This record gives sequence, C-alpha cells and structure tokens, in this order.
Amino acid sequence: MWLSVALAAAVGLAFAGASLASGGFGWRDVAGVAVLVAAASVAEAFPVPIEGVAVGAMSLATIFLVAGATIYGWAAGAVAGFLAMVLVEVGRRRPFSRIAFNCGVYVLAGMSAGGAAADLHSGTLPQLVLGAIAAAIAFYLVNITLLAAVVSRSRGLPFVPSFRNYVHLTLVPFTIMASLAVILVVLWDRSPFVAVVLVGPLLATAFYQRWIHGALDRLREFDRLKDEFIAIVSHELRTPLTSVYGAAVTLRQQAIDEEQRSALLDIVSTEAARLARLLDDVLWVSRLDSGRAKAFITKVEPLPLATTVVEATRTHLPPALSVELRHDPAPPAVAADPDKLRQVLVNLIENAVKYSGEGRIEVGLHRRNGKMRFSVRDQGPGIPPNQRERIFEKFYRLDPNMTLGVGGTGLGLYICRELVEAMEGQIWVDSVPGEGTTFSFELPIAASS
Ligand code: ADP
Repeated sequence: MWLSVALAAAVGLAFAGASLASGGFGWRDVAGVAVLVAAASVAEAFPVPIEGVAVGAMSLATIFLVAGATIYGWAAGAVAGFLAMVLVEVGRRRPFSRIAFNCGVYVLAGMSAGGAAADLHSGTLPQLVLGAIAAAIAFYLVNITLLAAVVSRSRGLPFVPSFRNYVHLTLVPFTIMASLAVILVVLWDRSPFVAVVLVGPLLATAFYQRWIHGALDRLREFDRLKDEFIAIVSHELRTPLTSVYGAAVTLRQQAIDEEQRSALLDIVSTEAARLARLLDDVLWVSRLDSGRAKAFITKVEPLPLATTVVEATRTHLPPALSVELRHDPAPPAVAADPDKLRQVLVNLIENAVKYSGEGRIEVGLHRRNGKMRFSVRDQGPGIPPNQRERIFEKFYRLDPNMTLGVGGTGLGLYICRELVEAMEGQIWVDSVPGEGTTFSFELPIAASS
C-alpha cells in the first residue's frame, strides 16, 4: 500500500517538477511557496491536540498547503506538500516506508487541491473563494481516503467503516481549517504581507488548544490516581479487617484454649497496628499533597529516637528476623523534624521486615561527609536496578498483584522521600538483587549552640 502511494506521488512530483521548470514561475512565486512550506512544516512539527474532536493531534499544515495549491497551482501544491512533510518526517527519524507514505499522501493531496482549484485563481473574488473551497475539499478527501485505506489494510478492517470513522473524527476541525485556508487565500491574493495578520489568531488558537489539552490531561491523571487510591486503600483496609473480624468471632467461642486465645489476640493487635500504619500513610499523603507537611526543624538526638523505633520493631518481629542498631560512639544531633524523622525510619524498617522475611536487619547511624547518615539494610530479595528510582513514586509497587503475598499501598517510600526532602536531606537505595537492600538518607547535623 505505502509503495503504491509513494510511486504515484513520485510520478506526480516528476511531472510537477517538469511543469515548474518549463517556466512561468518567477522568484516571487518561489518566495511565496517557500513561506507557505515553512509555515506548513512548523504546523506539521507542532500538531495541535483538539479536545473531544480528534483522537490524536491535528496538524494545521492543511491550511497552508491548500492555500499554496490554490494560489500557485497543482505543481507547486505537490512540491509544497512533499517538502513540508519530508522536512518534518526526516527530522523525526521515522522509518522509510512511513516517510514515503506520509510524503506521498501530501503530494497527492496537494496536487488534487491545485487541480480542483485550477483556472479559478486568476478569476474574480467569488471564483477565488470557490477555488479555495474546492481545493480544501479535494485535499481533505485524498488525505483521509488514503489514511483510512492504509489503516483498514493494516488492521484487516473493511474500508468503509474506517473511512466513516475518520470523517466523523476530523470533519469539524477540517471545516474550520478549510475556512481559514479560504481566508488565507483571499488575503494572500491582496498581498502576501496582509496575510501575516493570520499568524496571531492561528498561534493563539494553537497555544490555547495545547494548554487546554495539557490541563485536561492533568485532570484525567488526577482522576486516575484517585480511582487507584480508592482501590488500593480499600483493598488494604479489607485484609486486616477480615483478620480482626475472624479472630473476634473465634474468640467469642468458649471452646478455645489459652494458647489459641493468645495467638488470636496477637493477630488482632498486629492487624490493628497495620490498619493504624495504613491510616498514617494516607494522612501523610494527604498532608503532603495539600502542602500541610511543613517541617518544624529542631535539634534532634538521633540515637534515642532510633533506639525507640528499633525497640518497638523488636516487639513484633517474626521469629526468623533480627534487628540491630549500629552507630558511631556519640552521634551528634541532627537538624530535623522529630515526627517526620521517626516516620521515615519506621517506614524503612517496616519495609525491611515486610520484604525480607528472614535474616538480619541492620539500622545504621553514622557520620558521613559532614552529615548524619541513617541506613536500613536487609537481607531480602533486593530491588532490580531499573526500579530503584520508580519505587519512590506514589503507588508504585514492584509486585502490584501481590504474587509474593506481601500487601502494601506503594505510598511508604513516596512519603519517605517527601519527608526527607522537606528536612533538606536526600534519600536513596542500594541493592544487590538476591542479597539485600540498603535504604539510606542523610540529614544535616545541627549547629552546635
Ligand atoms: P508498599 O510497601 O506499601 O508497597 P513502599 O512505597 O513502601 O510501598 O514500597 C514500594 C515498593 O518498593 C514495594 O512495593 C516493594 O516492591 C519495594 N520495596 C520497598 N522496600 C523494599 C525492601 N526493603 N526490599 C525489597 N523491596 C522493597
């Protein structure tokens, strides 16, 4: 398909070249075509997304190419179509067949437009307008017929529904572009310099459309995040609630011994703690997103704080895990917000517990490069190199379908990074897949007073 379009266009271009070379084309005409080709290339390079009308982005190049073909004839139309497309497509490094097809479409469309307007461009004003309208329609029909043909061919669909679909999606923007092409032709006929007045409204329309499209894209993204948030949080709420409910129902039965009773109470307290952590995460995210998580920096003694967190972890550590705190002899105070610092440590240690399952967890507190470095090292599965940035994104999880049976919201590390950065620190991860992971963050040392 692409080959026949390209061949037909090549033959057309050859005739067009011959026709132009045979004379009648002055330097003013060459300059006029060059300006229109430049405008069409810019329009082609920066297509305008049209909200709710077209699926992809529309190029306004049609306006300039139709005007060029109406004013300067079919041969100029073919050459202008070719140049406008080839400049942009080669710049985009598209595959050859695609470049050949797209250029072919514009050459054939440009020729048809010029042909449809023939003999009218030297006539009266109404004739000129009619010529431009005929040119626009011809350009449009050739363009969408070929596009629909190639799309229906490649997807194995019948041609007529594809064509109808294209018309449905592009008719409104096309009508507007056709009117603009007519205006351009009429102005250009007066003087190409007068036509410059179209630049302002065209640029304004293009920028405004792009801006609207960007704003709506952001809204759609918010909406998607909200849905994801609700889905994840409700799923994460349900799991511990089911366990607590199950344990409570069993506890009500009289016939359980002391050992079972204490195991069930363990479940209730661990799952309740999990619920509390989840709600903490959600609250932190809401505070961070609404800018209410300002850090109140004071002087914080890191050793007592880390010791409390490590001791608290020990109380509910699975039997296959151990946790240790290693630190410099007398770690200096850091400039931090104590609540936020505690939250970051809790999140990192909880992750180490959750994802490593067995082995040793080492919490470190060392002075490095004039800062205080906190680290949490585990002997878990590790994190592949290409995921080490992404895990800090909101909702990002390595195992979203929980094939390994470990639940989570993907919020913990996002919160850690935001909190550490709010305290003027930095957080990062080092990991050897299969051997373990070390999360580290550095905070400034408090000025001694
Ligand atoms: P959550 O734990 O709720 O899924 P986090 O933001 O805390 O969310 O972590 C994001 C992802 O990073 C986790 O889903 C997990 O895949 C990975 N991850 C975090 N900590 C570790 C760790 N210590 N070892 C291995 N993978 C980890």
